[in-house]
Amino acid sequence: MRDIIDIQSNDNALFVTGQCNNHCLMCCQPPVKRDDIDFFYEKNIRLIDSAPFELPTIGVTGGEPTLLGDRLFDLIAHIRKRLPNTHIQILSNGRQFADGPYAEKLAQVSEGMVIVGVPFHSDSPIIHDRIAGAKNAYNQTLLGLYNLAANDIDIELRIVLTKQNYQRLPQMARFISKNLAFVSTVAFMAMEDIGYTIKNRNLIWIEPLDYMPQLQQAVQYLAQLEFDVSLFNLPLCLLPGSLRPFAKQSISDWKNKYLPICDTCTAKSECCGFFSTSKSIFQGINSL
Ligand code: SF4
Repeated sequence: MRDIIDIQSNDNALFVTGQCNNHCLMCCQPPVKRDDIDFFYEKNIRLIDSAPFELPTIGVTGGEPTLLGDRLFDLIAHIRKRLPNTHIQILSNGRQFADGPYAEKLAQVSEGMVIVGVPFHSDSPIIHDRIAGAKNAYNQTLLGLYNLAANDIDIELRIVLTKQNYQRLPQMARFISKNLAFVSTVAFMAMEDIGYTIKNRNLIWIEPLDYMPQLQQAVQYLAQLEFDVSLFNLPLCLLPGSLRPFAKQSISDWKNKYLPICDTCTAKSECCGFFSTSKSIFQGINSL
């Protein structure tokens, strides 16, 4: 995470805590135990005060931002006051929003300018909880999603593609269409090979080429129902032609890289490339 707000950047985010109540098998920012909330709160107020008025979007991330309790609303209120035209994207595991009044308070302070990105690991409670590393996470996250929707808060559903969940992607897509049809967007995301992904490699790692058939089914199913579907962190050369229109340049500019082979690729300007922070490069990269 950087220490400045740069209006030219595609990723300006406030890191609010390193603590988390999930322990996801592929967490790229493994949680810490120390209480760092005051330290980051003060730092983030200074960052907000220094941000350019025209900043289009600001992220709120961690760790788990809802561990700030009601101070999260103070932070959002400060952003709204200082940067009234800036959209706010909160990345949260969604569990705290199972508390209805908490979701309601977020709606009151966000004034329609907040979207919450919530990871959803599987339609199976067992698989979701195993990936999240927390008992009952599935039930709380689902209830949280319903409470956010009941308060008209935009939701980006985030599905990180792993060895644990890829086989049920088509079933997940059907589950989303029936039970989570209110989400604004569904983002399927390739893993960053860092943090717990390295530690849990045997449990979690899968090459994108190996989950492509299931991903294709899930994306096409949701797209034909007119869901807004995105693919994050997946280089274009790994995608069949039918999936390429869904790919986004999702990697933060400050940790984005390309390979020497990309220099001769006609798709480089539209391709997300790679995380410079990842320990490995996906198999199958080929200039288009
Ligand atoms: S060769 Fe490089 S730029 Fe071209 S599609 Fe693959 S990863 Fe992207």
